[in-house]
Amino acid sequence: MDTIILIDIDSLPKEGLRLSRDFEFLSLDLVEENAVFLEPAHAEVTVRLIGDEVLVQGEVTARLSFVCSRCLIPFEFPVASRFDLVYLPEDIDALSEELSDDKIDQMFYSGRQLDLRAVVLEQLNLTFPAKPLCAPECEGICAVCGEIIRDANCSCLVKESDTHWNKLKFPVRDKS
Ligand SMILES: [Zn+2]
Ligand SMILES: [Zn+2]
Repeated sequence: MDTIILIDIDSLPKEGLRLSRDFEFLSLDLVEENAVFLEPAHAEVTVRLIGDEVLVQGEVTARLSFVCSRCLIPFEFPVASRFDLVYLPEDIDALSEELSDDKIDQMFYSGRQLDLRAVVLEQLNLTFPAKPLCAPECEGICAVCGEIIRDANCSCLVKESDTHWNKLKFPVRDKS
């Protein structure tokens, strides 16, 4: 298990601190409950202090396994996400009413430290789809035979107008 990586704001070199390292996260850390790491996440990060603002720029890459929300088959989900973040000292929060609208989601650091592990984890979570799909056209599981339609296991012909099957509690053919 990885320890917290605390960046000491006041000891950052002028040119910035460059870090390249792997992060071992638990699947429990993820917002997507059925996600599993196929390999550790890797982040290349530069942390810079400009005035009182901490600039965190970099990229996180990872390979995860997700479960399709329609057919329930696991599929590989690669992540390669760039980020460019600005953290303000927490005491500026008192001035939040003066911040413009686009700063409402502003992020803060406190105690002159920044937890880089938490930053990378948050960026990772932001890349996840709300409804993971193995393929955009995934048709899920057949309401009639319970087979996965993708694999052509199902040969049922269900008319679109046949609403009878909607009464089954099995989650099927989600059109959203
Ligand atoms: Zn699927
Ligand atoms: Zn079927």
